[in-house]
Amino acid sequence: MRIYNTLTGSKQIFKPIEEGKVRMYVCGPTVYNLIHIGNARPMIIFDTVRRYFEYKGYEVNYVSNFTDVDDKIIKKANEEGVSSEEISTRYIAECKKDMEGLNVRPATTHPLATEEMGEIIDLIQVLMDKGYAYKVEDGTVYYRTRKFSTYGKLSGKNIDDLEGGHRAILVAGEDQKEDPLDFVLWKPKKEGEPYWESPWCDGRPGWHIECSAMSRRYLGKTLDIHAGGEDLIFPHHENEIAQSEAANDATFSNYWMHNGFLNIDNKKMSKSLGNFFTVRDIANEYDLQVLRFFMLSAHYRSPLNFSRELMDAASNALERIITAADNLRFLISKSEVEALKDDEKENLSKVSDFVKKYEEAMEDDFNTADGISAIFEIVKLANQTASGESSKAYLKEVLETIEKLCDVLGIFTEKQVAEGAISEEEILAKIEERAEAKKAKDFARADAIRDELLAAGVEIKDTREGVKWTRV
Ligand code: AMP
Ligand code: ZN
Repeated sequence: MRIYNTLTGSKQIFKPIEEGKVRMYVCGPTVYNLIHIGNARPMIIFDTVRRYFEYKGYEVNYVSNFTDVDDKIIKKANEEGVSSEEISTRYIAECKKDMEGLNVRPATTHPLATEEMGEIIDLIQVLMDKGYAYKVEDGTVYYRTRKFSTYGKLSGKNIDDLEGGHRAILVAGEDQKEDPLDFVLWKPKKEGEPYWESPWCDGRPGWHIECSAMSRRYLGKTLDIHAGGEDLIFPHHENEIAQSEAANDATFSNYWMHNGFLNIDNKKMSKSLGNFFTVRDIANEYDLQVLRFFMLSAHYRSPLNFSRELMDAASNALERIITAADNLRFLISKSEVEALKDDEKENLSKVSDFVKKYEEAMEDDFNTADGISAIFEIVKLANQTASGESSKAYLKEVLETIEKLCDVLGIFTEKQVAEGAISEEEILAKIEERAEAKKAKDFARADAIRDELLAAGVEIKDTREGVKWTRV
């Protein structure tokens, strides 16, 4: 398996630290609002990476944090006149709902910054003891960036080029820093803000330290994979490396994966431009499976442009897979031939070639776009070869293959049944009732049943193999 590693700027063969296991950390969202579709991209991509490792038999320890103490959360809490805990608790719950809709599995652990203060303080103390951190008069603790000699190695920045830029954004109160490049590890409390006791002052952590502390607690000093959106490369991930490697004397992460940005109509997503969508907005228009499928149709490192046309194309493509799978299920229920026929054996060998193609694509830095093409080859073959004469064994093998490959992508091969929708038992009972009506030559009743089903969102078709139904 080859993974593009931001640290080396090249694709590298994946070698886990521990045989058969993957330790993976993905920076999660700051929870002060509903997540937007840009936030959904890393969630979907790295959930798919996790699923592929599991498909290959790896045990994945997947950790993803929620940043639940932050200026934006505090601002929102003050606006609403509630505690920042109320804000973060609310939006963590909302985020989990969206993740479920996107079929993003919960992480093995979702640590919260506010619940890891002991770990965060311990880590800052180690940096203090080793001379990588210092406290200034007002109690702020800074990281001594220049002391970390390889600073800039992830983003490819030269420390001497950075200084100018940083000096320009020096804000009031920061003049106690030894060097403009130094960044905050701990800062003193302000009126009306949540705070924790520490050896330096009552206050709260800077943003970067939480990931270094949590990843070490749940995954150890060295990770296999650390991931997030490309905007996190600098300064967030660069600072995480500086903190963790200085404290632990160990490589922080062997592989660094970053997803490209999601843009809307070729522009940066922004509230002020009016081109900003939450996952919830999209859920009102599309099945969230379509959003997931759309995201996986492009390479994760490329920028991705979101538009209605592309979403509609994704919706049609997904529909083709679901229709083929539904047809296979229907034919399985009707087939009277058990054993494989000779030509079917030949077709199954083509199916396994497509599976190989799929795996090769996924193992070449998770090329999900080519992986999806391989699934479509199987769908095409199924449409050409599955019929009322096919054996159960053949139909099942083809269906299970499509299901398995889609499951790695987190894509369902069945239409999701909306809450309150007519159940399968009810549909089958109606179809049976219609058959009885037809037998009794009561065609008016038979037609009425067809219309009733249609009104309930179910279309039926009479075929040679029997009555076929689909949700529309
Ligand atoms: P944040 O809450 O801003 O820290 O973002 C959480 C995650 O979403 C991070 O991994 C970001 O890199 C990622 N992210 C934010 N905006 C976008 C976007 N427009 N496209 C892709 N990823 C994004
Ligand atoms: Zn992080």
